[in-house]
Amino acid sequence: MSATLIKGSEISKQIKEELKLEITELKKKYNVIPGLATILVGEDEASKVYVGAKEKACKELGIYSERINLPGDTKEGDLLALIERLNKDDRIHGILVQLPLPRHINKTNVLYAIDPKKDVDGFHPVNIGKLMLGEPDFLPCTPHGIQELLIRSGIETDGAEVVVVGRSNIVGKPIANMLLQKKKGANATVTICHTGTKDLASHTKRADILIVAAGRPKAITADMVKDGVVVIDVGVNRLETGLVGDVDFDGVKEKAKAITPVPGGVGPMTIVMLMKNTVQSAKMHAGIV
Ligand code: NAP
Repeated sequence: MSATLIKGSEISKQIKEELKLEITELKKKYNVIPGLATILVGEDEASKVYVGAKEKACKELGIYSERINLPGDTKEGDLLALIERLNKDDRIHGILVQLPLPRHINKTNVLYAIDPKKDVDGFHPVNIGKLMLGEPDFLPCTPHGIQELLIRSGIETDGAEVVVVGRSNIVGKPIANMLLQKKKGANATVTICHTGTKDLASHTKRADILIVAAGRPKAITADMVKDGVVVIDVGVNRLETGLVGDVDFDGVKEKAKAITPVPGGVGPMTIVMLMKNTVQSAKMHAGIV
Protein backbone atom coordinates (compact mmCIF):
# COMPACT_ATOMS: atom_id res chain seq x y z
CA MET A 1 0.00 0.00 0.00
CA SER A 2 1.22 3.52 -0.65
CA ALA A 3 -0.54 6.19 1.34
CA THR A 4 -2.75 9.01 0.11
CA LEU A 5 -1.17 12.34 0.94
CA ILE A 6 -3.15 14.65 3.23
CA LYS A 7 -2.09 17.94 1.73
CA GLY A 8 -2.43 20.79 4.20
CA SER A 9 -1.07 23.09 1.52
CA GLU A 10 -4.23 22.43 -0.58
CA ILE A 11 -6.76 22.25 2.26
CA SER A 12 -5.46 25.51 3.76
CA LYS A 13 -6.09 27.22 0.39
CA GLN A 14 -9.74 26.10 0.47
CA ILE A 15 -10.14 27.50 3.99
CA LYS A 16 -8.50 30.78 2.89
CA GLU A 17 -11.04 31.13 0.09
CA GLU A 18 -13.88 30.55 2.55
CA LEU A 19 -12.39 33.13 4.92
CA LYS A 20 -12.03 35.71 2.12
CA LEU A 21 -15.76 35.46 1.44
CA GLU A 22 -16.57 35.72 5.14
CA ILE A 23 -14.33 38.77 5.58
CA THR A 24 -15.85 40.51 2.55
CA GLU A 25 -19.33 39.89 3.95
CA LEU A 26 -18.32 41.14 7.41
CA LYS A 27 -17.12 44.41 5.87
CA LYS A 28 -20.16 44.82 3.62
CA LYS A 29 -22.92 43.85 6.04
CA TYR A 30 -21.52 44.98 9.40
CA ASN A 31 -18.63 47.35 8.57
CA VAL A 32 -16.35 45.06 10.59
CA ILE A 33 -12.69 44.55 9.61
CA PRO A 34 -10.95 41.81 11.63
CA GLY A 35 -7.64 42.98 13.10
CA LEU A 36 -4.60 41.06 14.35
CA ALA A 37 -1.64 42.46 16.31
CA THR A 38 1.58 40.45 16.30
CA ILE A 39 4.32 41.24 18.78
CA LEU A 40 7.90 40.11 18.22
CA VAL A 41 10.48 40.71 20.92
CA GLY A 42 14.11 40.40 19.81
CA GLU A 43 15.79 39.17 16.67
CA ASP A 44 15.14 35.42 16.56
CA GLU A 45 15.36 34.55 12.85
CA ALA A 46 12.78 31.73 12.84
CA SER A 47 10.33 33.94 14.76
CA LYS A 48 10.78 36.71 12.17
CA VAL A 49 9.86 34.25 9.43
CA TYR A 50 6.75 33.05 11.34
CA VAL A 51 5.58 36.61 12.07
CA GLY A 52 6.22 37.60 8.44
CA ALA A 53 4.12 34.69 7.21
CA LYS A 54 1.26 35.69 9.52
CA GLU A 55 1.43 39.30 8.29
CA LYS A 56 1.38 38.11 4.68
CA ALA A 57 -1.67 35.91 5.31
CA CYS A 58 -3.51 38.90 6.88
CA LYS A 59 -2.80 41.04 3.80
CA GLU A 60 -3.91 38.28 1.45
CA LEU A 61 -7.24 37.87 3.26
CA GLY A 62 -8.05 41.51 4.00
CA ILE A 63 -7.39 41.33 7.76
CA TYR A 64 -6.02 44.52 9.35
CA SER A 65 -2.60 43.71 10.74
CA GLU A 66 -0.40 45.58 13.19
CA ARG A 67 3.13 44.25 13.55
CA ILE A 68 5.05 45.44 16.59
CA ASN A 69 8.78 44.72 16.76
CA LEU A 70 10.37 45.32 20.14
CA PRO A 71 14.09 45.21 20.98
CA GLY A 72 15.40 42.11 22.78
CA ASP A 73 16.05 44.10 25.99
CA THR A 74 12.42 45.27 26.31
CA LYS A 75 11.31 45.25 29.96
CA GLU A 76 8.50 42.87 30.91
CA GLY A 77 6.49 45.81 32.29
CA ASP A 78 6.66 47.62 28.95
CA LEU A 79 5.46 44.51 27.10
CA LEU A 80 2.59 44.10 29.58
CA ALA A 81 1.65 47.78 29.10
CA LEU A 82 1.58 47.29 25.32
CA ILE A 83 -0.69 44.26 25.70
CA GLU A 84 -2.98 46.31 27.95
CA ARG A 85 -3.21 48.98 25.23
CA LEU A 86 -4.02 46.36 22.57
CA ASN A 87 -6.61 44.74 24.87
CA LYS A 88 -8.48 48.09 24.74
CA ASP A 89 -7.94 48.82 21.03
CA ASP A 90 -11.19 48.30 19.10
CA ARG A 91 -9.40 47.74 15.78
CA ILE A 92 -7.62 44.70 17.23
CA HIS A 93 -9.49 41.42 17.72
CA GLY A 94 -6.50 39.12 18.06
CA ILE A 95 -3.21 39.55 19.95
CA LEU A 96 -0.37 37.18 19.24
CA VAL A 97 2.93 37.29 21.13
CA GLN A 98 5.48 35.30 19.15
CA LEU A 99 7.28 32.70 21.27
CA PRO A 100 9.95 32.13 22.45
CA LEU A 101 10.38 35.32 24.47
CA PRO A 102 13.78 36.47 25.77
CA ARG A 103 14.71 34.76 29.05
CA HIS A 104 14.26 37.84 31.26
CA ILE A 105 10.55 37.98 30.37
CA ASN A 106 8.15 35.65 32.17
CA LYS A 107 6.13 33.94 29.42
CA THR A 108 3.28 33.04 31.78
CA ASN A 109 2.79 36.67 32.91
CA VAL A 110 2.66 37.74 29.27
CA LEU A 111 0.25 35.06 28.04
CA TYR A 112 -2.05 35.60 31.05
CA ALA A 113 -2.14 39.37 30.35
CA ILE A 114 -3.82 38.92 26.95
CA ASP A 115 -7.59 39.42 27.11
CA PRO A 116 -8.97 35.85 26.71
CA LYS A 117 -11.47 37.30 24.18
CA LYS A 118 -8.50 38.35 22.00
CA ASP A 119 -6.36 35.26 22.67
CA VAL A 120 -6.44 33.90 19.11
CA ASP A 121 -3.56 31.51 19.87
CA GLY A 122 -5.80 29.84 22.47
CA PHE A 123 -3.03 29.67 25.10
CA HIS A 124 -4.76 31.60 27.92
CA PRO A 125 -5.88 29.34 30.81
CA VAL A 126 -9.48 30.52 30.33
CA ASN A 127 -9.41 29.24 26.75
CA ILE A 128 -7.63 26.03 27.72
CA GLY A 129 -10.31 25.47 30.38
CA LYS A 130 -13.10 26.13 27.89
CA LEU A 131 -11.52 23.65 25.47
CA MET A 132 -11.49 21.00 28.24
CA LEU A 133 -15.15 21.71 28.94
CA GLY A 134 -15.99 21.35 25.25
CA GLU A 135 -17.14 25.00 25.01
CA PRO A 136 -14.22 26.70 23.25
CA ASP A 137 -14.15 30.28 21.94
CA PHE A 138 -10.76 29.73 20.32
CA LEU A 139 -9.06 26.42 19.65
CA PRO A 140 -5.24 26.50 19.57
CA CYS A 141 -4.16 26.83 15.95
CA THR A 142 -2.07 23.69 15.31
CA PRO A 143 -4.51 21.22 16.95
CA HIS A 144 -7.41 23.00 15.25
CA GLY A 145 -5.58 22.61 11.94
CA ILE A 146 -5.08 18.89 12.58
CA GLN A 147 -8.78 18.38 13.33
CA GLU A 148 -9.73 20.25 10.14
CA LEU A 149 -7.32 18.09 8.12
CA LEU A 150 -9.02 14.95 9.46
CA ILE A 151 -12.55 16.24 8.86
CA ARG A 152 -11.88 17.59 5.38
CA SER A 153 -10.05 14.42 4.36
CA GLY A 154 -13.09 12.37 5.35
CA ILE A 155 -11.26 10.48 8.10
CA GLU A 156 -13.67 9.06 10.68
CA THR A 157 -12.68 9.87 14.25
CA ASP A 158 -15.87 8.59 15.87
CA GLY A 159 -14.87 5.46 17.80
CA ALA A 160 -11.34 5.51 16.35
CA GLU A 161 -8.27 4.58 18.38
CA VAL A 162 -6.22 7.79 18.35
CA VAL A 163 -2.68 7.73 19.71
CA VAL A 164 -0.93 11.06 20.28
CA VAL A 165 2.84 11.05 20.75
CA GLY A 166 3.78 14.20 22.71
CA ARG A 167 2.08 16.01 25.59
CA SER A 168 3.04 19.65 25.04
CA ASN A 169 0.58 22.38 25.98
CA ILE A 170 0.47 23.65 22.39
CA VAL A 171 -0.02 20.38 20.47
CA GLY A 172 -0.26 17.04 22.32
CA LYS A 173 -2.55 17.90 25.24
CA PRO A 174 -5.00 20.09 23.30
CA ILE A 175 -5.39 17.76 20.28
CA ALA A 176 -5.97 14.82 22.64
CA ASN A 177 -8.62 16.80 24.52
CA MET A 178 -10.30 17.97 21.33
CA LEU A 179 -10.55 14.48 19.85
CA LEU A 180 -12.04 12.93 22.99
CA GLN A 181 -14.95 15.41 23.12
CA LYS A 182 -18.38 13.92 22.46
CA LYS A 183 -18.72 15.85 19.21
CA LYS A 184 -18.64 15.55 15.44
CA GLY A 185 -15.06 15.33 14.19
CA ALA A 186 -14.04 13.86 17.57
CA ASN A 187 -15.50 11.14 19.88
CA ALA A 188 -12.31 9.07 19.64
CA THR A 189 -10.64 6.83 22.21
CA VAL A 190 -7.42 8.70 22.91
CA THR A 191 -4.06 7.61 24.30
CA ILE A 192 -1.27 10.12 24.99
CA CYS A 193 2.36 8.93 24.93
CA HIS A 194 5.50 10.73 26.12
CA THR A 195 9.07 9.97 27.17
CA GLY A 196 7.77 8.19 30.27
CA THR A 197 5.73 5.76 28.16
CA LYS A 198 6.94 2.17 28.41
CA ASP A 199 7.05 0.36 25.06
CA LEU A 200 5.90 3.19 22.78
CA ALA A 201 5.41 0.84 19.83
CA SER A 202 2.82 -1.25 21.72
CA HIS A 203 0.64 1.89 21.77
CA THR A 204 1.40 3.30 18.32
CA LYS A 205 0.65 -0.11 16.72
CA ARG A 206 -2.92 0.07 18.06
CA ALA A 207 -3.60 3.43 16.42
CA ASP A 208 -6.18 3.95 13.69
CA ILE A 209 -5.03 7.57 13.73
CA LEU A 210 -1.51 8.37 14.90
CA ILE A 211 -0.63 12.00 15.68
CA VAL A 212 3.06 12.62 16.25
CA ALA A 213 4.34 15.81 17.91
CA ALA A 214 7.60 14.71 19.50
CA GLY A 215 10.13 17.01 17.85
CA ARG A 216 12.37 14.00 17.04
CA PRO A 217 13.15 12.89 13.48
CA LYS A 218 12.22 9.25 12.85
CA ALA A 219 10.57 8.90 16.27
CA ILE A 220 8.06 6.67 14.43
CA THR A 221 9.21 3.98 12.00
CA ALA A 222 7.29 1.50 9.84
CA ASP A 223 7.58 -1.32 12.39
CA MET A 224 5.72 0.85 14.94
CA VAL A 225 2.47 1.24 12.96
CA LYS A 226 -0.27 -1.07 11.72
CA ASP A 227 -1.40 -1.41 8.11
CA GLY A 228 -4.01 1.16 7.14
CA VAL A 229 -3.14 3.73 9.82
CA VAL A 230 -3.73 7.46 9.23
CA VAL A 231 -0.64 9.44 10.24
CA ILE A 232 -0.52 13.13 11.10
CA ASP A 233 3.09 14.25 11.40
CA VAL A 234 3.30 17.55 13.27
CA GLY A 235 7.10 17.56 13.63
CA VAL A 236 9.28 20.21 12.03
CA ASN A 237 12.96 19.31 12.24
CA ARG A 238 15.57 21.28 10.34
CA LEU A 239 18.33 18.86 9.30
CA GLU A 240 21.27 19.52 6.98
CA THR A 241 19.38 17.50 4.38
CA GLY A 242 16.31 19.76 4.71
CA LEU A 243 13.05 19.88 6.62
CA VAL A 244 11.72 16.57 8.01
CA GLY A 245 8.90 15.55 10.31
CA ASP A 246 8.92 13.14 13.26
CA VAL A 247 7.87 10.14 11.16
CA ASP A 248 10.07 8.07 8.87
CA PHE A 249 7.95 9.10 5.90
CA ASP A 250 9.39 6.74 3.26
CA GLY A 251 8.92 3.64 5.40
CA VAL A 252 5.59 4.53 7.03
CA LYS A 253 3.86 5.65 3.82
CA GLU A 254 4.06 2.05 2.56
CA LYS A 255 1.84 0.86 5.44
CA ALA A 256 -0.37 3.90 6.00
CA LYS A 257 -3.74 4.60 4.38
CA ALA A 258 -3.07 8.35 4.53
CA ILE A 259 -0.22 10.54 5.77
CA THR A 260 0.68 14.23 5.98
CA PRO A 261 3.90 15.26 4.23
CA VAL A 262 6.47 17.56 5.83
CA PRO A 263 6.56 20.27 4.59
CA GLY A 264 3.07 20.89 3.20
CA GLY A 265 1.04 18.99 5.82
CA VAL A 266 0.17 20.47 9.22
CA GLY A 267 2.35 23.59 8.85
CA PRO A 268 0.18 25.59 6.39
CA MET A 269 -2.92 24.79 8.49
CA THR A 270 -1.57 26.49 11.61
CA ILE A 271 -1.45 29.96 10.05
CA VAL A 272 -4.84 29.68 8.39
CA MET A 273 -6.46 28.63 11.68
CA LEU A 274 -4.96 31.74 13.29
CA MET A 275 -6.72 33.78 10.61
CA LYS A 276 -9.95 31.85 11.28
CA ASN A 277 -9.69 32.60 15.00
CA THR A 278 -9.14 36.31 14.27
CA VAL A 279 -12.28 36.40 12.13
CA GLN A 280 -14.15 34.48 14.86
CA SER A 281 -12.99 37.04 17.43
CA ALA A 282 -14.10 39.98 15.24
CA LYS A 283 -17.55 38.37 14.97
CA MET A 284 -17.70 37.79 18.74
CA HIS A 285 -16.73 41.40 19.44
CA ALA A 286 -19.38 42.63 16.99
CA GLY A 287 -22.00 40.41 18.64
CA ILE A 288 -22.54 38.48 15.39
CA VAL A 289 -21.96 35.06 17.01
P1 NAP B 1 7.75 19.80 22.80
O1 NAP B 1 7.18 20.86 23.66
O2 NAP B 1 9.22 19.62 22.70
O3 NAP B 1 7.10 18.40 23.26
C1 NAP B 1 7.51 17.19 22.70
C2 NAP B 1 6.73 16.08 23.36
O4 NAP B 1 7.10 14.86 22.75
C3 NAP B 1 7.00 15.94 24.85
O5 NAP B 1 5.78 15.69 25.51
C4 NAP B 1 7.93 14.74 24.92
O6 NAP B 1 7.75 14.00 26.10
C5 NAP B 1 7.48 13.92 23.75
N1 NAP B 1 8.54 13.09 23.18
C6 NAP B 1 9.74 13.48 22.71
N2 NAP B 1 10.45 12.44 22.26
C7 NAP B 1 9.67 11.35 22.46
C8 NAP B 1 9.85 9.97 22.23
N3 NAP B 1 10.97 9.48 21.68
N4 NAP B 1 8.86 9.14 22.59
C9 NAP B 1 7.71 9.59 23.14
N5 NAP B 1 7.49 10.90 23.40
C10 NAP B 1 8.46 11.76 23.05
O7 NAP B 1 7.24 19.93 21.31
P2 NAP B 1 5.95 20.63 20.63
O8 NAP B 1 6.01 22.09 20.86
O9 NAP B 1 4.72 19.89 20.96
O10 NAP B 1 6.31 20.35 19.11
C11 NAP B 1 6.50 19.06 18.61
C12 NAP B 1 6.97 19.13 17.18
O11 NAP B 1 5.96 19.75 16.40
C13 NAP B 1 8.23 19.97 16.97
O12 NAP B 1 8.97 19.41 15.90
C14 NAP B 1 7.68 21.32 16.55
O13 NAP B 1 8.59 22.05 15.75
C15 NAP B 1 6.49 20.90 15.75
N6 NAP B 1 5.41 21.90 15.68
C16 NAP B 1 4.91 22.15 14.44
C17 NAP B 1 3.89 23.06 14.32
C18 NAP B 1 3.34 23.30 12.97
O14 NAP B 1 2.63 24.26 12.77
N7 NAP B 1 3.62 22.45 11.99
C19 NAP B 1 3.38 23.72 15.43
C20 NAP B 1 3.90 23.41 16.70
C21 NAP B 1 4.93 22.49 16.81
P3 NAP B 1 8.05 14.57 27.58
O15 NAP B 1 6.87 15.46 27.92
O16 NAP B 1 8.11 13.37 28.43
O17 NAP B 1 9.33 15.35 27.47
